[in-house]
Amino acid sequence: MEGAEPGAERRSNGKVCLVGAGPGDPGLLTLKGARALAQCDTLVYDYLASPAIVALAPPDCEKIYVGKKAGAHTLSQDEITALIVRLGREGKKVVRLKGGDVFVFARGGEEAQALAEAGVPFEIVPGITSAIAAPAYAGIPVTHREHNTSFTIATGHEDPTKGFSSLDFAKLANRKATTIFLMAMGNLAGIVAQLKEHGLEGDTPVGIVHEGTKPAQEVLTATLDTVVDEVARTGITAPAIVVIGDVVRERERIRWFDAQPLFGKRVLVTRPAHQADDFATRLWEAGAEPILAPTIAIGPPDDLDAAREAVARVRDYGWVVFTSRNGVDAFFDRLGELGRDARAFGDVRIAAIGPKTAEALAAHGLRADLLPPTYVNEAVATELLARTNAGERILVYRAHEAREVLPETLRENGRVADVVAAYKTRFVDDPELIAKTERADIVTFTSSSTVQGFVHNVPDAASLLASKTVAAIGPITAQTARDAGIRVDIIANAFTVDGLMLALGEKVPV
Ligand code: SAH
Repeated sequence: MEGAEPGAERRSNGKVCLVGAGPGDPGLLTLKGARALAQCDTLVYDYLASPAIVALAPPDCEKIYVGKKAGAHTLSQDEITALIVRLGREGKKVVRLKGGDVFVFARGGEEAQALAEAGVPFEIVPGITSAIAAPAYAGIPVTHREHNTSFTIATGHEDPTKGFSSLDFAKLANRKATTIFLMAMGNLAGIVAQLKEHGLEGDTPVGIVHEGTKPAQEVLTATLDTVVDEVARTGITAPAIVVIGDVVRERERIRWFDAQPLFGKRVLVTRPAHQADDFATRLWEAGAEPILAPTIAIGPPDDLDAAREAVARVRDYGWVVFTSRNGVDAFFDRLGELGRDARAFGDVRIAAIGPKTAEALAAHGLRADLLPPTYVNEAVATELLARTNAGERILVYRAHEAREVLPETLRENGRVADVVAAYKTRFVDDPELIAKTERADIVTFTSSSTVQGFVHNVPDAASLLASKTVAAIGPITAQTARDAGIRVDIIANAFTVDGLMLALGEKVPV
């Protein structure tokens, strides 16, 4: 723009987005926050931000940890403020990620003020505050018409016994008005004493929620009279929300998050990284903590030419069989290389081994003609035999390493089955796999190759897994584990992640 100050153009794209990360459960990030994260050049975050949320930033984004927890590398608030102003001025798209909400005891106000003064464009994306969400996950509603008509969110950081508290304890000592304290664990005894001194009854319920909304959530319920002793007895610590009021009693009735069968369980996920998201999300929702430890990765097959050739000549076949989502993706990679698209199939019919494979086809606009009642190779073979005649040509486009039962059954019955390796599974070397497994309560295997990848890293898998609950997605995977000497405790009935979640929820020892 004419007349604009020098350098204005360079800065014009810079923007700082103050994003509330929510209280811990990664599912509680807002859609707007997720969008800002996915687009940022630089991420500035502190210790309350969940790693699953930090992972939403692009891989090449610069990630700056500014700490705020004792002991870690940290910057002072002034340094953090100066940093985001500088990054914004440099033209960066910055996300300043804060735990909970950006303005609830989070110094977002000061950061926004500095950005406004510096003329750096900024945006505020509010987050779900732990003050409300941690009680909610403990089954404590912050208002309830039987109990209160207001609630106050207060900091417990000021020490009321030192005489410099600006909190009005006379007002807070009101049975009809709930108080929610943040940062109160250090001064709990003083807060309790002040409330009692100002007339709040000793039998007033108190709830403490440590690490609310996370698999590590711990909840203590007590009364004003007993809470200090109970905290000492149980050792419950910060970070915690302290709720004072009759609403705490509702937990008895509406406790839910920490009553789920998988709550607090640490679950090792061995499937490839690009397929782990869905499973990890399901685990978070169940209150479990996924530990991502892919033991295999998917790559191109050794003979890429054979794969290309088969894809180029797909119309020579009556049927194409896909036995995994990876096969479908690989097929379309090859088609893309040939400059072609789904029309290459013409009226060739398509079989999918299970619903995820069918979904992958649907994403390319293709409907599977065959989906067997159980998601195994044997069932695909039976169904295909019922639909084809001797001499018919069938392309089995699958993993390099797979069981031979499908092509063999087809050939034994006179079909012409061409097997082409669509992709190759390779083992991932993970020097931390043993440590990750030791942390886990449950170890999951979602294919035979995940078992083999595990054993590749941990030759004595049987002893390492002896004290763990081992879950397999289906009988074939379970057999591979048993062949490696691993005891299997849980086998899913439907051979999908949904089936596995169901089996885990039903059978997990509590
Ligand atoms: N802006 C944040 C609060 C930051 S102050 C928010 O809106 O949630 C830090 C305090 O928040 C901690 O000392 C603790 O009291 C509380 N807190 C944050 N996350 C919490 C969680 N998951 N469970 C319990 N308390 C939490």
